[in-house]
Amino acid sequence: MNAEARNRCGYAAIVGRPNVGKSTLLNRLVGQKLAITSHKAQTTRHSILGIHTLPGGQIVYVDTPGIHQRADHAMNRYLNRTARNVLRDVDLLLFLVEAGRWTPEDEAVLDNVRQAGVPVILALNKADLIKAKAELLPVIDELSRRMDFDQVIPISARRGTNLERLQQLVLAALPEGDNFFPEDQVTDRPERFFAAELLREQLTRRYAKELPYALSVEIETFEEEGQLYRIGAVIWVERPGQKRILIGHQGQAMKETSTQARLAMEEFFQRRVFLSVWVRVKKSWSNDESALSRLGYGD
Ligand code: GDP
Ligand code: MG
Repeated sequence: MNAEARNRCGYAAIVGRPNVGKSTLLNRLVGQKLAITSHKAQTTRHSILGIHTLPGGQIVYVDTPGIHQRADHAMNRYLNRTARNVLRDVDLLLFLVEAGRWTPEDEAVLDNVRQAGVPVILALNKADLIKAKAELLPVIDELSRRMDFDQVIPISARRGTNLERLQQLVLAALPEGDNFFPEDQVTDRPERFFAAELLREQLTRRYAKELPYALSVEIETFEEEGQLYRIGAVIWVERPGQKRILIGHQGQAMKETSTQARLAMEEFFQRRVFLSVWVRVKKSWSNDESALSRLGYGD
């Protein structure tokens, strides 16, 4: 009998509360820096497709924004809605938790995962932080009682442990079919999206404390000039005081931020970048859903 495996292709969403390592895992799996990672929660606002073609088929990863418990803020409501819509729409959920830690936020994600009605692989991430692997067994036991997972696997996204095996499990759970994308394609996001993300990453690193929700980045121009990208970005803030913080004394802070962002863009795009950044004040966009849609956060 011919036991040759058929090609598989489908969508897998990586879900989990903020900070469990979703972006780190996605970047590892796709083998390229696609999602923005940081120590602060809530850095991922867009769901990013990372496309991974391997010998048996193609996995299209969707990185969802975290599901947030506090729904009193328009931004959180928007993020929750987007996340839930993604969950129902995929072939497989990769539910990520921290191996040694279970919080009410995990509980909330578990509820959504249960309701999604698609197969689920439970991955216990940050297994590198657990000294004795036997400590994981009662955790796995307890979680398996809560929900009937298709697979349970301990991994370390940071170290790369068990990721080959995880990929095989993910692929095996996808429907049979031809690949959706050419095999050299790693994302469906346009380059200007990454330009915005890379600038936003710098801002998040520098100003996470002062400006948690208050800023958003818009790419106004993105032009190719020979070997160079000429990029014009606007940082929207809510108050003149925030603008002053970003610009800094004699523009020094802004100069440093945009230099860092430019260097990150040059590395990402593998070419020279000329970056201009403006800071503009727009009142209270982060708590106004219509403004959110205009800025491209709408669904
Ligand atoms: P996200 O909010 O779920 O996207 O989480 P991130 O990918 O941004 O990761 C949050 C933090 O956890 C970062 O500091 C990561 O370096 C760290 N992290 C991710 N995976 C691992 C892991 O396997 N082991 C350890 N020790 N840290 C990890
Ligand atoms: Mg993330």
